This record gives sequence, structure tokens and C-alpha cells, in this order.
Amino acid sequence: MAQAAGPPRTVLITVDDDPAVSRAVARDLRRRYGESYRVVRAESGESALEALRELKLRGDPVAVIIADYRMPAMSGIEFLEQAIDIYPDARRVLLTAYADTGAAIDAINVIDLDHYLLKPWEPPEEKLYPVLDDLLEVWRAADHHQVAVTKVVGHRWSARSSTVREFLARNEVPYRWYSSDDPEGRRLLAAAGQDGRRLPLVVTPDGTALVEPTDGDLAARVGLATTPAADFYDLVIIGGGPAGLGAAVYGASEGLRTVLVERSATGGQAGQSSRIENYLGFPDGVSGAQLTDRARRQAAKFGAEILTAREVTGLEVGGAARVVRFADGSAIAAHAVILATGVSYRQLDAPGAAELTGCGVFYGSALTEATACQGQDVYIVGGANSAGQAAIFLARNAKSVTLVVRRPSLAATMSHYLVQQVEEAPSISVRANTVVEAVHGEHQLERLTLRDTETGGSELVDAQWMFVFIGAAPRTDWLEGTVRRDARGFILTGPDLAPEGRLPAGWELDRPPYHLETNIPGVFVAGDARAESAKRVASAVGEGAMAVMLAHRYLEQS
Ligand SMILES: Cc1cc2nc3c(=O)[nH]c(=O)nc-3n(C[C@H](O)[C@H](O)[C@H](O)COP(=O)(O)OP(=O)(O)OC[C@H]3O[C@@H](n4cnc5c(N)ncnc54)[C@H](O)[C@@H]3O)c2cc1C
Repeated sequence: MAQAAGPPRTVLITVDDDPAVSRAVARDLRRRYGESYRVVRAESGESALEALRELKLRGDPVAVIIADYRMPAMSGIEFLEQAIDIYPDARRVLLTAYADTGAAIDAINVIDLDHYLLKPWEPPEEKLYPVLDDLLEVWRAADHHQVAVTKVVGHRWSARSSTVREFLARNEVPYRWYSSDDPEGRRLLAAAGQDGRRLPLVVTPDGTALVEPTDGDLAARVGLATTPAADFYDLVIIGGGPAGLGAAVYGASEGLRTVLVERSATGGQAGQSSRIENYLGFPDGVSGAQLTDRARRQAAKFGAEILTAREVTGLEVGGAARVVRFADGSAIAAHAVILATGVSYRQLDAPGAAELTGCGVFYGSALTEATACQGQDVYIVGGANSAGQAAIFLARNAKSVTLVVRRPSLAATMSHYLVQQVEEAPSISVRANTVVEAVHGEHQLERLTLRDTETGGSELVDAQWMFVFIGAAPRTDWLEGTVRRDARGFILTGPDLAPEGRLPAGWELDRPPYHLETNIPGVFVAGDARAESAKRVASAVGEGAMAVMLAHRYLEQS
């Protein structure tokens, strides 16, 4: 979870180039308001602006800005002009000498000044506090409630902006989204010294600004564990989908020192499902996010360590130890390993699709983009359950949803209950016998060329959103030379490795591999990554539990 910053205290800021005056204003402010407000003082416009930018990034509210009119490098009016850009709602006071009242009166229009105070302001009870009391009352009347959450400033057509949002959402990190076109988005960019060309900007609750962060940077900054606590474990689980989480719950609850390593966010494919209706025990369905959150908490409760945003790129055998290597070259070792790496979306092979991914073309990120599709025309490519679920989900907001399906109908590829829901939804239509031939758009998706596979005819349609669900493939190349896989990359286990009872080449034990065991003793597979697996949440969870049971058996014998 995101680290909670302490509650922000509303700030009163004062700037005067004369240190004695600056100290005196701050002293008087603290005397009356110090209990409820934080008083910040600066001795130049530039340093006050610097302080305001920092406060902005940290999300601290600023109620009143008091600036001296006559300052050498930057006048009070010039300062306030820039300060408004950062804190437009803060009340503004100019501190002037009697001789400068004319300029102060002019400033009322230029910078929308709330008040000018004449120096000296003695006694403050008469000349300073009544003014400030009024201004604070006005300020408090508006809603300035600030929640210390991560802020993301991005753009709808910035691919990295949408992957960052998805990463945070899937890891259950609360965040607030600002478009770089919105005034507040622009203010945050300015506070971080950015012009908006590099997006997204992520501001963590403690005010740290991250520009175009990697998943690893992001995970570490928002409080997700990325570094293993030990070098050696009983069990390393690779992949945090239903199979991996299932294995983590059973492994940790049965006393194994267990670590789960996830490349991106826990939940895997299931985490992207808007509604899983066929998982045992949830008659009303459950969203992938809910199921993931519960499973993750359950695994953590039993003591499983969960590392996020860490990709495993190698598996080595070191005597009895199984060594798991990360992308940065570091490694951990264990007695047993469970591979639960699932499958990844297959990419659409149509000209233009790769260039516009994240800019209108999405693979399975239907959930985070749903509200942005409000009132628009959406295309979904694919005819399996994942496409059907996305269609039902997106139809709630979109003007129309078109399912583009290569086959003559949905019957062969989608569960009956979903086909019924698709047919009953008035805003969903199905284009059977159709493929996406080309994807068009300069900076964002604008049009699609659809081809009817029966007639051969093509049609150009306007489209701003396309979600692709055309099957998935395992990403297991990194196991090449160690773990045996079938021609499509799915991992072979148990009986498939020992046809007609022959033991696999290099196998040194006198028993055959267990049912979910690979050609490396003590290395097991659970879930979608396994050859001939069922590709369902329930079977993935079940295999996770079973793999732990087999790992126990392996450990007892070794
Ligand atoms: C949109 C959608 C809807 C679905 N709806 C349903 C449904 O209603 N009912 C149902 O039964 N099934 C459904 N499924 C299928 C179901 O989600 C999968 O069968 C299930 O998630 C498989 O679980 P898994 O743990 O084997 O793999 P995955 O869920 O694919 O998880 C694998 C995880 O491993 C991680 N990983 C991969 N490689 C590495 C590596 N090298 N290092 C570290 N981590 C790695 C991945 O990032 C991923 O998080 C749906 C699938 C999708 C996409």
C-alpha cells in the first residue's frame, strides 16, 4: 500500500526581503495562528516561489500569502502573479509602506489582491489579525480538503501515462489523475519544473516528483516491496496471478518460508477481469481486483513475502538449490520453485496497431480506461470470454460497443451466459466474420479498416478506442535450455515428460516427475503456463495449492 504522509497542515506564507520585517511578520502570525497553521517565511520572491512549489508537490494547502511590495529582485506584485499560478485559491495580501499605497491599489485589479496592509501593522490585534481572520474565514468556506495520495499528471494519448495508471490501480495504490491540459495538472507540472513534454509526472504523497518512472521506481516510491528480505527460501513462486497467489497462501500457511515474485502487479490476467462469475463461492460474481486484493492479503497474513515489479529472467540449478535470477542480475535461492507465469496477451498483427498501443489501442486494460470511453464508440477485438466481459463492462459508459469477431458467431468461443448478456445489451453489436486489417491515426487512434472475411470487402470506420483480446501466449523464453516446453512455449510436466514411462533426459531421480513437476526436480508449474492447462481461475488456484503439496513431498524426500 501507499505510504501515508502525515496530515498536511495549512500554510500561511510570508515573504519580505528585510530579515527583521520578515521575522516580525512570522512571529506575529505564529502567535495567533501557530496552533492551527504552519507559518513559512522567505526573504525573496524566488525562495518563496520555491517553497510554494515544494508545498504544491507535497499537497499541502496554502491559505494566505503575504508579500512585501518593495523587494529588489522580484517585486511583491511580480511574486504574487506567479504565486497565483501555483495556488490560485490562496488569499493574497500585499505589505506596503504608506508611500506605495497607490501601487498597491492598482495591484488589486492586476493580481486580484484581497488586501493591502500598511507597515507597521502594530498593534497586530487591531491591524493584522482582523484582516487575516476574515481572509481565513473566506478561505475555509471553500472546500480545500486535501488527501495525501499519489498524483499522476498525464495525457489520455500518452502510452506510458496509461500503463502507469494501470500499474497503480492493479497494485491498489490510490492515486488521483490530472490531465496535463487541466489547470491543476499544469500547476503540478510547473511545480516540478516540467513543461509537459515528458509524461507522466507522478508525485508521491511525500512530494517526490517522478518523471516517466519505471515500474520499479514507482513500486519502490509508493511503498510496494521490491527487495527480498532473505537470500534463501523454502519456496520461490514466480508470478502473482491466481496460481501464484494460491501457491503463496498454501505454502506460507503450511510453514514454508515463501516469497512470491511478480513482474508487474499481482492478480495476473484475472486481475484485469471486470467480473468473474464462474469462480466457486461467488454466486454474484467477483471482480478480479477484489479477488486479488483478498488473495494478496491472505498470503501476506500467513507470512508470504510479495515482491512487485521484479521480473525473473533466469533459473539455474546449483546442487540442491534452485537459483532464481532477476533482470538486474541479483538472485535468490530456494529448495523448491513454482513457475506460475501464466500467459500474456497476443499482439494484433495489423499495420499501425503497435504504434498506437496506449494511444487508443489497448490490450486488456479495459478497466482503467472505462470512464474515458464515456459517450464514445468502442471496438473490441476477440470473441472469447475476456472480450465478452469487457464489452458488457464498457457498454455501461460507451455510446456503442462493437465486437469484432473473426468467426461466424460467438457460440464456439464464449460462455453461453456471456453470449446471452451480449445479445441482450442494446448498445453492443457483433460484427462476425470480420478482422481488423489496419489501424490509423497520427498521434491517437482515429480509424480502423475492417475486412469482411466472407465477402473480402473492406470498410473504414471512425474509432477512438480499441481493446484487443485475441488470445494469449506464454512468455517462457527465459527458461530455454533449462525447463522443457512444448512448441508454443507452454511448460511440460509429469506424464507429458515421461511418455510410456521413460524418464526425461538428464533426470537423475529414480521416481518419475510428479504431476506438476518439470524436468528439473523441485521445479513445479501451476496455472496457464502449464501445457494443456484449463485456462480458468479455479484451476489455476487449484494447481497452485497442488504444486505446494507436491513441493512438500519433494522436500521430505530430498
Ligand atoms: C479479461 C479476462 C477475463 C477472464 N475471465 C475469467 C473468468 O471469468 N473465469 C475464469 O475462470 N477465468 C477467466 N479468465 C482466465 C483466468 O484469468 C486465467 O486462467 C488465470 O488468471 C490464470 O492464472 P495464472 O496465475 O496461471 O496466470 P496469470 O493470471 O497470467 O498470471 C501470471 C502472472 O505472472 C507474472 N509473470 C509472468 N512472467 C513473469 C516473470 N518472468 N517474472 C515475474 N512475474 C512474471 C505476470 O505478470 C502475471 O501477473 C479471464 C482472463 C482474462 C484476461
